[in-house]
Amino acid sequence: MLTSNEIDKTSIKKMKDVKHRMNEERLSFKRLHQDVIEKGICSMCYGCVGFCSANELNVLTIKDDKPTYFHEVDCLHCGICHLICPRTKDLDAALKTKFMFSQPIGHFESTRCLRTTNKEISEVCCDGGVVTSILSFLLDNKRIDGAIVSKREGLWNNKPMIATKFEDLLECAGSSLSHSASISDMGNLTTYASILGIIEGSRRLDLTKLAVVGTPCQIKTIRKMQMLRIVPSHLVYYTIGLFCFENFLLRDEGKRYLEKKIGVDLNKIRKINLKENFIITLNDGRTIHIDLEDLGPMIRPECLACPDFSNYTADLSLGGLGSPDGYTSTLVRSKSGETIINEAISQGYLKEVEVDSKRMIKTIEKMALRKRKRGEKYLT
Ligand SMILES: Cc1cc2nc3c(=O)[nH]c(=O)nc-3n(C[C@H](O)[C@H](O)[C@H](O)COP(=O)(O)OP(=O)(O)OC[C@H]3O[C@@H](n4cnc5c(N)ncnc54)[C@H](O)[C@@H]3O)c2cc1C
Repeated sequence: MLTSNEIDKTSIKKMKDVKHRMNEERLSFKRLHQDVIEKGICSMCYGCVGFCSANELNVLTIKDDKPTYFHEVDCLHCGICHLICPRTKDLDAALKTKFMFSQPIGHFESTRCLRTTNKEISEVCCDGGVVTSILSFLLDNKRIDGAIVSKREGLWNNKPMIATKFEDLLECAGSSLSHSASISDMGNLTTYASILGIIEGSRRLDLTKLAVVGTPCQIKTIRKMQMLRIVPSHLVYYTIGLFCFENFLLRDEGKRYLEKKIGVDLNKIRKINLKENFIITLNDGRTIHIDLEDLGPMIRPECLACPDFSNYTADLSLGGLGSPDGYTSTLVRSKSGETIINEAISQGYLKEVEVDSKRMIKTIEKMALRKRKRGEKYLT
């Protein structure tokens, strides 16, 4: 027979066990750690840290580039971090329904082959300068008061920033993969830009309507946040998605690998572009193509677990693949995407050329299937 004191102790212990078990089973950062971070597939977007419900209590932090608990006791176990993570399958079914996803590249209203009409943009852009021209159109027409973009910092690195004027956009046109700089002594570099944290910064600037340019994982997180009505995702009016097979790391091992592969000093690289291949243009004008799956230690390992190439949740998805050099293939997915493209053309920001759209779609689908196959292998 237990005394009343002992009964209290037993029931308190039982309650604690139940609470502990509930917290273990509930979606929380602990689960995110197990499901994503420990598996090495965290995309390092830091959405979990930036949009934690208990942000003011410093529950999460970033250590050695990875999200981690700082004040675990204050964790609310609300599961927001798990739900918005681009690497979890949470909300996937809802997203697929909402954006009418069908294999392999999702829903689109039309395909367009476009280029900028602006000389300054065409001198620095990656493909057709379409992304920068669209943002310029949106700012000029006051459809947005800011754009979340990535500023080039040499050939391989970039920094997220909020562009509020044309000069800012010009600094970000092109990509960190396409501007010449000395890379032999630049340390560890990555093409991945952590843009999510900067959205929070837009609130401090009193911006109310934003466009965001991002890779599939970045746009997916924003869409998940919008689905859950997480502030400040309501400020994002337009999502401009880039095609993306993977991001790159240029650590010592990667540098050696690339140098050996191309047989040329890396400082002789003028431009790097991504289409169906990794395309290197050297200072002497020669081009070298490398298969995107043959880049060994240069591939950012976290990207191997991503199945989306064509950015199926964006309003517009863009890449060089499927268009002639100097043009950008554009999948117009939403009504608002269609409106801005048509208006940007009629106001003279963009020029369209006729291409075989079936061929363009087939080329993009082929790449999307390759990436999906690889990503799903890593996710199971
Ligand atoms: C990591 C990465 C991988 C890609 N992979 C492919 C691919 O495999 N096949 C393909 O066809 N296209 C790929 N693209 C897209 C392609 O490189 C061009 O960005 C796209 O064609 C738009 O060209 P543009 O001339 O119209 O854009 P521009 O007018 O030159 O504007 C480019 C925009 O991209 C933004 N940006 C640049 N770097 C980053 C970054 N690291 N993260 C987020 N935003 C960035 C800039 O802020 C700018 O707003 C990739 C892009 C990136 C960033």
